[in-house]
Parts: sequence; C-alpha cells; structure tokens
Amino acid sequence: MFKKIIFGLFILIVGIILVILFNTIRAGNSIPVKESLKEPPINDSALRHFSEAIQIKTISWADTLPIDTAEFIRFRLFMERAYPLVHQKLERKVFSEFSYLFEWKGTDPSLKPYVLMAHMDVVPVEPGTENKWSHDPFKGEVTNNMIWGRGVADDKGSVITILEAAEELLRQGYQPKRTIYLSFGHDEEISGSVGAVKIADWFKDQKIRPELVIDEGGEITLEQFPTLKRPVAAIAVGEKGYLSFELSVELAGGHSSMPAKETAIDILNKALYKLREEQMPYHVSPPMTELFRRIAPGLPFSERMAMSNQWLFGSMLQKKFESDPVTNSLFHTTIVPTMLKAGVKDNVIPTRATAIVNSRNMVFDPEDAVVAFMKKQINDERVKIMPFKTNSNASPMTSTDSPAFKKVEEVIYKVMPDIIPVPYVLMGGTDSKHFSKVSDGVIKFNPTIDSKGYHGIDERLPVSDFNRMIFFFELLIKN
Ligand SMILES: [Zn+2]
Repeated sequence: MFKKIIFGLFILIVGIILVILFNTIRAGNSIPVKESLKEPPINDSALRHFSEAIQIKTISWADTLPIDTAEFIRFRLFMERAYPLVHQKLERKVFSEFSYLFEWKGTDPSLKPYVLMAHMDVVPVEPGTENKWSHDPFKGEVTNNMIWGRGVADDKGSVITILEAAEELLRQGYQPKRTIYLSFGHDEEISGSVGAVKIADWFKDQKIRPELVIDEGGEITLEQFPTLKRPVAAIAVGEKGYLSFELSVELAGGHSSMPAKETAIDILNKALYKLREEQMPYHVSPPMTELFRRIAPGLPFSERMAMSNQWLFGSMLQKKFESDPVTNSLFHTTIVPTMLKAGVKDNVIPTRATAIVNSRNMVFDPEDAVVAFMKKQINDERVKIMPFKTNSNASPMTSTDSPAFKKVEEVIYKVMPDIIPVPYVLMGGTDSKHFSKVSDGVIKFNPTIDSKGYHGIDERLPVSDFNRMIFFFELLIKN
C-alpha cells in the first residue's frame, strides 16, 4: 500500500514537471525581429517651433480657475504662423474657442478616417518648485540633445510632432487616401469636458466612425522589463476609470476638554483605515494575458516557466505584482484617500469630518461595485458616501485584432529596431476616452522612451524621441 502511494506521487510529480516543461517550450524561446526604417535627420525649424510652443503658458490651473485666454490666443497664432500649409490646405473647426479639429480630406471616401490627437494645455509648475528645475520650465531650452520645459512630454511634444509631420507631407505635395483628422484639445488636464468632449460629439453628430484614434498614453520602455533586454512598446488599448467620492461623518461635537467616546474624526479615521486594509479583486485583463504571451518567449527560463504556467505559479506572480505600486495598479481597482477636512479650532470637536477618496477602477469593477466594496469594508452606516464630481468609468478595450491596433503595431516596428509591441491598460486618463463612443479603434501611444518629469520637476524630452515621434506620425499618415 505504502509503495503504491509513493509510486502514485512519483507519477504525479513527473506529470506536473512534464506539463510545466511542455507549456514553457510551447511559449517559444525567441521573439521575431522585424525590419525597421531609417528615420530622416531632425529639422532645425521643428526644434525652433517646439521651443516656441513651450514658451507659451497654456496652463490649465484647476477646474474652478479661469485660464489665461491671451496665452491660448498666442498659441493659436503661433500654430498659424509655424504651420501655414496645414492652415491653408486643411479645414479647421474651432470648439469652445480654443480646441481645434483639422480635416485633411482623403481621396477615397470609402476608407474610414484616422484621428491623430493631442492636448495643448499643460499643468502648472507647482509654486515653490521653480528653482528646483535645472532649466526654466517656460523657456523651451534645448541643451545636449535634450528639450526642457513644462509640457515637452505631456503633451505639446505630440501637438508639435503631429503638426510637423502634416506640414512636411503637405510640403511634399502628399495627398492622403484616407481622411486624416488632427484633433487638439485645450483642457485635457482638467478632464477635457469642453474640448475633446465637444470634438467627439461632433463625430457622433456627423455619424463618422474613425478606424483609428491615436492619443497620448503608452510609450516605449527599456526600464520596465529589464530581463528582456529589448525595447517594449506598451500600447494602451483602454484606460481605467476615474471616480472620486466624498466620505462624510456628522456627529454632535463639543468642547475638547470632555470628548465623547467617539467623534466624527474618529469614525472617519476608522473608515479610511478599513478601506486601505483590503483591495478590490485581482483581475488579469485580456490585454495583460496577451502581454504575458508576447513577452514570455524573450524572458530567462525561470521567468518564462512562471509566465507560461499560470495555473501553478499564478498566485506567486500575483504576490510579485502586488508588491510594487505600478504593477499592482495594472491588476487592481485602486482606492486611496486624497483630501481630508475637519475642524475649525484646536479646542472644538468638529461636528463634521470629510474625506475625498479617489478610485481608478478597472472595467470589471464599475462605479456601483466600487461603492458596494467601500460600504462593505467600512461597515458603518454613519459614514455617508457621495460622488464628489462627475465620475468617468473605465473605457472599453480595443482589440489587438482590430485594424487600429495592427496599424499602430506595423508603424512601431518601422520606427525602432528590435521592438516588441504589447497591449496594456493605462492607469491614468486621457482625452481619447471621450472617443470610445465613436470608434472601436482608440489607441493611446507615443513612441517616446521612458518619459521623465511630466507633471513634476525637470520635464524633459530627448531630441531623438522628438524626431522619432515626427517619423512615427508621418508613417501613420502615409499609411
Ligand atoms: Zn497629457
């Protein structure tokens, strides 16, 4: 009997090893390299235009603060002057005064159009950090093959490179077969509610369904997959939602010399603590499954074995992903408190305490599921949960089999040797979420490499990235 058990165990272990090996070998052990093209040298005027664009302070301060309209007018005049052919040959529509849509009519009306989009507004430089910048954020300096300033990476680089690509092709007399739209919003940093929304609505009214809408979001990374030793183009095929809620507690206050057993602050405090103790469920979305499938063959044996045998190593991988905030956010809806308010005087117990929590939800966890999770975790009727402002749910995911994804992939292969394109879902938000209602081909990607300093100090963009972007958009337009 004992011998039989030992023998049975032996057979089982051998079986498991064989399955692991079979799956690991089946994943393959090399990723094909496609042929790239040589990009043309950088044009001095393109850099001059970029520098000028950075000097114009098209700042989105906050939802509640007005913009400096003079700067936005300056930006429009700059575009008209720097890109004369775009303004002569394309039709420009204006939305909410400062957002623009250019239509470049194609010769074949049977082809569905492409939309190349970017935003012209930038976030402010946080007061008090100006002197921490190694270059003035609004001077547009170019030194040692690096361009410095607020907005170079997010997202004036895209605005300028799209315009440079279009202007250059117009100069060459190029006429696209497919209609190309250039869409530039002016309020992305404060949710795009009067810019990109209005432009997307126009497409809806005209019943135009673009085949591809391409916006900022994903980029090329050399840092995120160090063991691959090859550049990876992380192409965002969707984005997480953006939900904010106010948690409030109201309870009789009083004199701080005679505190009751529980105060409004205490109750809120406990609620916030409980909210952070557990996460919403772990989900491996279809883009992430596809990402694993594409990178596995290039990984060292042990990592390849784990990736291709998730039935066995899934929970180990989950633990690894959850240990890092970036990878954790790829597999979870996140919820975190961001603002707190209570009290007016040091010896008065406040009657009201509030917190704002911000959630970035996966498409699997819609708003009502997030609210239900918070209620269950907090488990205290005295904590009221209300939406804080207009929330936006997660966008649908563009298929990797769609013509949009395939086109972007094809162009990526051409702009960088050795590259491995993979899909994923963006954690942040972009203007292109508003286009999900008019297109099944929304893609968020720029061919920059591991961008630095956006929304922070020393925002910068290598000249090589800038040039690659122009080349990328030219190829995309030329189709
Ligand atoms: Zn942006």
